[in-house]
Amino acid sequence: MLKKLKKIIKKGNILINEPLKNHTTFHIGGNASFLVMPNDFLELKNLIEFLKNNNIQYYVLGNGSNVLASDDGFNGVVIKLTKLNEIRLYEDCLQVFCGANLNSVCLFLKQHNLGGFEDAFGIPGTVGGAVVMNASAYNFEISKVVKGVLILKDNKFDYLNNEQCGFGYRKSNFENAIVLSVDFKIFNGCESERMDYVFNMRKTFQPLNFPSAGSVFKRVNGVVVSKLLDQMGFKGKKCGGAMVSEKHAGFIVNVGDATANDVKNLIISIKNEVKDKQGIKLEEEIKFL
Ligand SMILES: Cc1cc2nc3c(=O)[nH]c(=O)nc-3n(C[C@H](O)[C@H](O)[C@H](O)COP(=O)(O)OP(=O)(O)OC[C@H]3O[C@@H](n4cnc5c(N)ncnc54)[C@H](O)[C@@H]3O)c2cc1C
Repeated sequence: MLKKLKKIIKKGNILINEPLKNHTTFHIGGNASFLVMPNDFLELKNLIEFLKNNNIQYYVLGNGSNVLASDDGFNGVVIKLTKLNEIRLYEDCLQVFCGANLNSVCLFLKQHNLGGFEDAFGIPGTVGGAVVMNASAYNFEISKVVKGVLILKDNKFDYLNNEQCGFGYRKSNFENAIVLSVDFKIFNGCESERMDYVFNMRKTFQPLNFPSAGSVFKRVNGVVVSKLLDQMGFKGKKCGGAMVSEKHAGFIVNVGDATANDVKNLIISIKNEVKDKQGIKLEEEIKFL
């Protein structure tokens, strides 16, 4: 297997028995048999082709900021895309490769006095992960600034315009595809004070001093889950090393060697109590690896 991978991934990295806790913002997760970081789209395409042809499981990872990785790790290949991180400015659009961090995009735009991403400043994901999740914050929603997306699906490259992306709340059409690069609309003038404001709001209201994967649950019929959990007294509730943040009840934080099972058990007990007492069925926003 390693020999084959080395033939395909000539310029990128291949890591063996790699702890996933090193690649998720929760700092949780057992070992992946292989973690591969392709360096260009062709390497990625050849890799997927090889894995599919040989029935080898794979999982695509951006910055791992919305993922809870299993304590048992992953018996297969985790494909981390952060080396595909180019940002290119054209006359009518900004093209960003999937693995570029959203914050780098915000800073790039600020440097060029361009706007549109001010309220995204501080979301710790890649552009690929953000488009797949249709990330949003304050007045920002990534689907509103996407022009089109280059994807790899069924071993073919394809280009989808915004309408074809199937964007909804934390939803898109890319479940069985890999987002390779995204073309964004360009807006003149960067409101850099707004970026500072949004960043400070995050520092004030989010538990950024602990590892987490952001908000664990999706909104339900307009109900802001963090407020509901706060009112129900969940702040500080613990399961092993996992705790409902005392700062923001929508976040579960890793307060010391939490396992994925600790987080899962805490999620289950929250869901059960909310269902029993409020009749509301919570759904996770985070993804399980
Ligand atoms: C402190 C903190 C604050 C956060 N604040 C926000 C916020 O304000 N708003 C918000 O929306 N989210 C927020 N998040 C969650 C997270 O940052 C976003 O969902 C982000 O967009 C995920 O990007 P990622 O690269 O980390 O994706 P990952 O976590 O690596 O992956 C998420 C999912 O997308 C898939 N995926 C990733 N890249 C690709 C690709 N190129 N092609 C196909 N599939 C892919 C993965 O398989 C996985 O299913 C926060 C998280 C943290 C830790």
